[in-house]
Amino acid sequence: MPNNSPEPGREGTDSLDFTYVLRDCLSCAVISVDEQRKVTGFNLKAEILTRLKAEQVLGKSVELLPIPLQRAIAETLASGKPISDRQIRLHDGGRSDQVIQINTTPSRTESGKVSGIVAVLNDVSTAQKWEANMRRLDRLHSVGTLSASMAHEVKNAFVAVKTFVDLLLENNKQADLAEIVQMEMGRIDSILGQMLKFSGPAKPAFAPIQLRFVLDKSLHLIQHLMEDKKIKLTRTFNAAPDSLNGDADQLEQAFINLFFNALDAMAPNGRLTVSTELIPAGSTIVSLPGGKNGPLLRVVVQDNGVGITTENMDRLFEPFFTTKPEGTGLGLAITRRIIEEHHGGITVESGVNKGTAFSLVLPASNGQH
Ligand code: ADP
Ligand code: MG
Repeated sequence: MPNNSPEPGREGTDSLDFTYVLRDCLSCAVISVDEQRKVTGFNLKAEILTRLKAEQVLGKSVELLPIPLQRAIAETLASGKPISDRQIRLHDGGRSDQVIQINTTPSRTESGKVSGIVAVLNDVSTAQKWEANMRRLDRLHSVGTLSASMAHEVKNAFVAVKTFVDLLLENNKQADLAEIVQMEMGRIDSILGQMLKFSGPAKPAFAPIQLRFVLDKSLHLIQHLMEDKKIKLTRTFNAAPDSLNGDADQLEQAFINLFFNALDAMAPNGRLTVSTELIPAGSTIVSLPGGKNGPLLRVVVQDNGVGITTENMDRLFEPFFTTKPEGTGLGLAITRRIIEEHHGGITVESGVNKGTAFSLVLPASNGQH
């Protein structure tokens, strides 16, 4: 037997040591139940998985166990047949479900009657989450590679076509379709531009800038769209100083993408709120990935539009994810990339039919304004 001394009260025969191993050392949960549906065994891992103490359940009815577990036990007792590798979900009081893999084995008397069962449970939630993440990363990677090479190819061909069509249009200004063709060419050009920006590692050109100027310029560019839709703007720029090192053009694009989305989400007469604040160095409220803890600038872009459903929340920043018939699904992917290139972070909070707030943090510089 191993040297490590068993707990007091557990020393003694080999069979007691075996019980101790079963109870405290197994990495899977083991629960045994007799034919009266009373719990007869409940090891440490079972306590962790179910958040019930052995004393609470031992000798008591299985009804104290989580319902999906009771069902599996009842099924085995009734049918006398084992369950192998079935996945059940243990509800976790509001937090995400635990996914459990369960195996049951009935034990029988000499006459063959079912005298009880043993259930062995494994928590596979973490493994599942990893798997889902890996699949997502893999997909993103292939989409990224594909879109980079496609965008380059198409752009080359497009430059040739555009030159020729521009010439044709120059000589046929009156042609019915001239205007539409020109508009659509512009659209293709901008989609390709966005795709290249997203997939190509265009290095931002950093310079000292003031956040309020970049925001105001971006707001100015969408002003007529806001007027058309009678959107009211609340602008609270509290960050002072608001200097940072960044690429003004790229940040402008990041903000405009957020403004466009907010406008799309709101009905006429909606309200767009854009606010900034300076978060002093060392704040524990907000921190950046990478653990830098200098002063931060926070920008919040908030709308009172349709909001985002929980299912869509996880996919927002995926390239090509869109819920709009005419959407490209690239806006947020690009915005996040730009913010990350600026060593910042972006988060979102949303309530369906309440509205959405995107919150960006960027490292502030110590420059004077
Ligand atoms: P696109 O605008 O082309 O659809 P984006 O990447 O900008 O692509 O946005 C992806 C999706 O995220 C949108 O289709 C929409 O469903 C959702 N979304 C983004 N911003 C908002 C917002 N402010 N309110 C509601 N939904 C939003
Ligand atoms: Mg968009």
